[in-house]
Amino acid sequence: MRARWPYILASLVILSFPASSPSQSQGVFYEGARLIIGDTTPPLENGAFLVQNGRIAAIGQRGTIKAPAGIARMDLTGKTVMPAMNNAHMHIGYEGYVSWDVENHSPENLLDHLEREAFFGIGAAMTMGDQPIAFALKFQHDQTAGKFPPAARFFFAAGMAPPGGGPDALLIQGTAPLHAVYEVSSPDEAVRAVRKIAAAKIEQLKFWVDNRDNNRGARKKMPPEVYRALIEEAHKHGMTVHAHATNLQDQKGVVQAGVDVLVHTLVAEKLDDEFLAILREKKPYWVPVMGLADRAEFCDGDVPFIAQVMPDSVVADIRAGKTWLPSPPCSASPTPQAAQRDENLRYNFPKYLASGARLVFGTDAGVSQKYSYGFAEHHEIGMYVKLGMTPAEAIIASTSRPAELLRLKDTGSLAKGKRADFIVLRANPLEDIRNTREIEDVYLAGVKLDRAPLRMKFKQALVDRDAMHAKEKQDYVPHPPSSPKKL
Ligand SMILES: [Zn+2]
Repeated sequence: MRARWPYILASLVILSFPASSPSQSQGVFYEGARLIIGDTTPPLENGAFLVQNGRIAAIGQRGTIKAPAGIARMDLTGKTVMPAMNNAHMHIGYEGYVSWDVENHSPENLLDHLEREAFFGIGAAMTMGDQPIAFALKFQHDQTAGKFPPAARFFFAAGMAPPGGGPDALLIQGTAPLHAVYEVSSPDEAVRAVRKIAAAKIEQLKFWVDNRDNNRGARKKMPPEVYRALIEEAHKHGMTVHAHATNLQDQKGVVQAGVDVLVHTLVAEKLDDEFLAILREKKPYWVPVMGLADRAEFCDGDVPFIAQVMPDSVVADIRAGKTWLPSPPCSASPTPQAAQRDENLRYNFPKYLASGARLVFGTDAGVSQKYSYGFAEHHEIGMYVKLGMTPAEAIIASTSRPAELLRLKDTGSLAKGKRADFIVLRANPLEDIRNTREIEDVYLAGVKLDRAPLRMKFKQALVDRDAMHAKEKQDYVPHPPSSPKKL
């Protein structure tokens, strides 16, 4: 019974979609906007750039580069242009607006999620350790071959975990039936699994250290000798290794062992001097993934921004706390634990940065309705600034640095030769990071994303599903129990 979710998108995938218009293939000259470059280059206050064949052919101060005769021109005076953002950590394919389940997993649903990412200005998105490899390779191949409508480019990391551990109670509902995660219990098994993944030419690998049961001991953690062997073998094959680790001891262990990317921020403990010294020595990439527990955005924040892509009933459910990951309703007052978590974040976040951890944008988007594709990214970048980064630093961390981590030389900044992946904003995010939400248009490889029909499709998702699956609706449960399924 896999038909519950992939309702209407299948028909959209096979529709032909327009490539670039004639003027776009000839080129377009954009002038007058403030250009945020996406690396340490200062912004150009009155800039111009030429896009031809999906790439930036020239860029500079207005007046210093020439528009070819007869070319289409677009005046962007008063606007700000920044590179499309790139998300180095999300979970894709299993979310279905009101459920999170393996039955939602299909190419059509993956595409829907990547369209939601693109709608909000994300050009490339990497899902972490949660896809069956053959499926992911085929999807990537099909997308590269142009079989799908415009969406964020799909990237994935292979996943590895201790047996029965790894992905948490939610993630495991999707990944276990698909055997999406390699389970390893010894250094030998880890090495063999890494070799298989390397043979498939996969460059990114994520492993979970946690037992994911709050150390109650029912599941086993990945022991250091296993992850050390894993990291060493992966590096022999030139792979980039990400470690999910959420407590101080494990974060120390994986960074000391040479992991390339540390995922998560300590929220229940404070960083100590020993760990700071390890960070200073190793300077790992670091994907903080903090926004999920931030209730402010949904309860006090910009609901219309979120509601663009969420059916009204889903927005109402989130505010009422009816989510598949337990979350309090907006009417509840904040708990002491939440206050402690916030205090730890305020203490820890600047310390990671000051020790040289290289922050890379990533969100865990997709694991909860209240932190879903596209808008979660704008919440997350807002948190970076709330916790002490400058907007310019936060934008670098969300554009060129994840591109570097993903080994994408063709995107991540506004520069000659790069793909024309950019966002036109109505306001300046260097003044207020919340202005990344003031999206007027999104361009991917020089082609303007047609956002209005996408918005309509997202808003109507449940209506369409109901119409097409009236019978299945009879036994359809709108909200799974608030506690995760028993495993
Ligand atoms: Zn994650």
